[in-house]
Amino acid sequence: MPSGSPRPKTSAGGVEIELVFVEPLPHAYECPVCQQALRYPVQFDKCAHHCCSNCLPQLIKEHGAKCPVDGKPIDRDQVYVDKNLQKTIQQLQVKCTFHENGCKWTGQLKEVPSHIPECENADMVCSKGCGVIYQRKDHEKHSVEDCLKRVVICEHCEKEIKKHYLDSHYKACPRFPLTAVEDRQLPAKVQRGQSRACLYGDGKVRGKHMSLFVGLLKGDYDVLLSWPFSHRVTFTLLDQCQDPAGRHNITYTVKPNTTKENRPFLGRPTSERNASFGAQKFCELGLLEKLDYVRDDVMFIKVQVDTEDMTPL
Ligand SMILES: [Zn+2]
Ligand SMILES: [Zn+2]
Ligand SMILES: [Zn+2]
Ligand SMILES: [Zn+2]
Ligand SMILES: [Zn+2]
Repeated sequence: MPSGSPRPKTSAGGVEIELVFVEPLPHAYECPVCQQALRYPVQFDKCAHHCCSNCLPQLIKEHGAKCPVDGKPIDRDQVYVDKNLQKTIQQLQVKCTFHENGCKWTGQLKEVPSHIPECENADMVCSKGCGVIYQRKDHEKHSVEDCLKRVVICEHCEKEIKKHYLDSHYKACPRFPLTAVEDRQLPAKVQRGQSRACLYGDGKVRGKHMSLFVGLLKGDYDVLLSWPFSHRVTFTLLDQCQDPAGRHNITYTVKPNTTKENRPFLGRPTSERNASFGAQKFCELGLLEKLDYVRDDVMFIKVQVDTEDMTPL
């Protein structure tokens, strides 16, 4: 067989599968119409050449009912099904259609249809419609770990969600938690704090604004510090524009209002963490899509506490 020619194919169960013969296919077993191994060959009366049963109508219609090998006329009624040749071809040794995937199977051509359904290296198209083709041996791994259309459970609301919708589900998930984006300790021997961002907005600004908060944490020096917490907190969302001159950072400063009502936020922590305070309307969500605040799904938020008016310990 000349290199580069298409491999002979046969049809099993309606699917075109590739045939790779162990020995080169003898020319006499090749159909002169489709150039593939003869399938249910018929023999012409006058010249004894063959073609596939399926190729005969095309030969009559498009080739003027002449043998493509020697041009002798073919009489439609003078062709015979060559059962012996069919049998001989069906017994030729072939490699597995998926030998390039690593299958070592060889066998008679007629055994291919029963091998393919159990071949571990056969290509499978994911039945959930994710578009991925994998080998049969990887079926379990694909369906459980890799398939984007597999169903997973949202860890927040416990609803079943297709894996590839999970990210968009999170935006609407009623139980999606506020995301802790930074856990920064304030300068030593001052109040400890934890900051968090609520990317899709908190409370009544949900879906409109991004909210940023800090919460005071219980610390070792709390007894020495002055309460309530009264230092200005500045949140900065960094513009990741490549050109430093073109950056437009967004800043927002919160000056704590040390009223009695705000004691749960600003008072000395009695539990592990106080209720959070900060910028509920830090910025409009639409703004995040402009400029370069989000790059590769990452944003940088700086939280600064004004230490100027702190009394050193
Ligand atoms: Zn043919
Ligand atoms: Zn002929
Ligand atoms: Zn195989
Ligand atoms: Zn899949
Ligand atoms: Zn959910």
